[in-house]
Amino acid sequence: MSSGLIFVLSAPSGAGKGTVLKQVMERVPGLALSISHTTRASRSGEADGVHYHFTDRDEFRTMIARGDFLEWAEVHGNMYGTSRWALETLLAQGLDVVLEIDVQGAGQVLRKMPAPPVTVFLIPPSLAEMERRLRARATENEGALSLRLANAEQEMRVVADYEYLVVNDRVEDAARQLAAIIYAERAKHRRLLSGAPAPLWSGR
Ligand code: 5GP
Repeated sequence: MSSGLIFVLSAPSGAGKGTVLKQVMERVPGLALSISHTTRASRSGEADGVHYHFTDRDEFRTMIARGDFLEWAEVHGNMYGTSRWALETLLAQGLDVVLEIDVQGAGQVLRKMPAPPVTVFLIPPSLAEMERRLRARATENEGALSLRLANAEQEMRVVADYEYLVVNDRVEDAARQLAAIIYAERAKHRRLLSGAPAPLWSGR
């Protein structure tokens, strides 16, 4: 596998992850978002192969049995997973990759990858604001929305296990902060991987 960086980004539903990520993908070159498989029904405006690979449960289970997934989890009653193929295809292109996955998936990736990925947790400024955003989005019925809110409290318990925490109060600020984390990590790793660089101050 190539030496591209892997960024694991987790956030409770309604934290504004999609909006923040969109801005980050636009402003950071050389970065790709891994497209997950899910058994969730597509929302209006979502396209197969773009937002997710929409898959039925039988096909998803076949993929699990074949060992196709680097990680997978049941989230809010649906199954989601990152295929090894999706990740390796992007890394082979020399890209750094964002895995936008839940806390269970993040744990699996951390246990499996030889080089630990960079972990970032995005939180909304408050639970009340998160609920307001989820309701404004209007993509879930009341039952699904309640489940997402209940799961959010659960997910927030593992915030401390992540290396970076970004509060999404204003989208532009959160996107700038996430982009800064990516650039900082690139500088760190590139320097490590390319061996000791000639000192800039040597003057020879
Ligand atoms: P949504 O249905 O709102 O698109 O996503 C619901 C949750 O599933 C989010 O927390 C999202 O991060 C998570 N998720 C999306 N793709 C994956 C994946 O491939 N693996 C895991 N473990 N979680 C995922």
